[in-house]
Amino acid sequence: MGSETFDYRLDLPSTWPPKGHPKPPFGPSALEIMRSCPLRSCFDASDGYERRLGFAARIGTVFHRTIQSFYEQPIPKNQKQQIAEEARQHFLIEYQKQIAESAKHPRERGLPIDQTRVDRAIEAIIAEALRINQEGFIYSSKSLQGRMDKQTVISPFQTEVIPNVEVEVPVNSGDGILSGRIDRVEHRRNETWLFDYKSAIRDDLPGRYERQLQLYAYMWNKTRNEWPTEAHVLYPLTGSVHRVPISEEICQQIYKDTVLLITQVEEASTRSELAIPGDTCQICDFRPWCQPFWKWQSQDASLTSALEKATLGFEGEIKEIGVVNYNWRLLISWRNSIITLKIPQERFPQLKNAKIGTKIRVLDSNLRGLRHQPQAQITEISELFIIIG
Ligand code: SF4
Repeated sequence: MGSETFDYRLDLPSTWPPKGHPKPPFGPSALEIMRSCPLRSCFDASDGYERRLGFAARIGTVFHRTIQSFYEQPIPKNQKQQIAEEARQHFLIEYQKQIAESAKHPRERGLPIDQTRVDRAIEAIIAEALRINQEGFIYSSKSLQGRMDKQTVISPFQTEVIPNVEVEVPVNSGDGILSGRIDRVEHRRNETWLFDYKSAIRDDLPGRYERQLQLYAYMWNKTRNEWPTEAHVLYPLTGSVHRVPISEEICQQIYKDTVLLITQVEEASTRSELAIPGDTCQICDFRPWCQPFWKWQSQDASLTSALEKATLGFEGEIKEIGVVNYNWRLLISWRNSIITLKIPQERFPQLKNAKIGTKIRVLDSNLRGLRHQPQAQITEISELFIIIG
């Protein structure tokens, strides 16, 4: 079902299990998705699932594409203030593209805009533009992928500084399994430093970011026949930098673990055995269709725990349905309880085809009130799906 015809109905027999299978070469980000839940990678490789990117992810895309635009559509070398204004315009162009893209996806309509994140991203982009202006760089063009690439020397600011920095550098593992692009590589007096930009607003360094850079270091070695000296994760939106250990031993081990993971996914006999329901489900937009997730949700013996997990999603049968003052009012059976749900008619038009006995799935609401007669309170990100199969 395409975006234009998406109607929040779940035809379970035709959408479970996902038919696609993740295929190499894999990038470090895709591998982290696979590591967190291999089933998610299978959904990701399949057609027929309406996607929903969060606003933070959209801003991450805007950030990376704006940086790339500095190399593809050079900014004239200018006074700092003019460079800052040009950089802001580059950002706003990419931002509008993502807003337009988001508007095409029904599941993203109405998601809240985080203006603080936008403002921070603009500040970070300006800082990056000024830094690039001072340092110069070498741009590895998209058409030059492969081992021992030649580089195309480009300056977005027509700078005279001799470049010692490469950006968007294509690398691969030489065996068809891994490939990717390193955001930034600095060559410093017989040393090579790798940098990976993350648009997250955080201070800590999660293991998945470390592993991604360690795989980049491995691929750098296979592509350039040398080991990088240092590697850093950069959070431009907070201005912090984290050093990542990249000894040859560590990187080789991460590569071996990765190959093992890929083999396990390839050899799995059912999709269900690939599921790892848990924290990752919170950020997974395949929840509506994921049968292992709903099984995991329904099997909790403790009501207290089930009430907490119901925030991720609850599934129940409509016992009563009506409209009061332009709001749907539903009573839904769930476990041994009856959940009351009052939601705007205009926001959930899909309920016009629902009746007593219809099964629904509600995502990202909060259950409040009496434990055995809770009320579901919706938020800006809540969704409601109707099961038809
Ligand atoms: S909902 Fe959870 S179990 Fe299902 S694919 Fe997503 S992360 Fe995996």
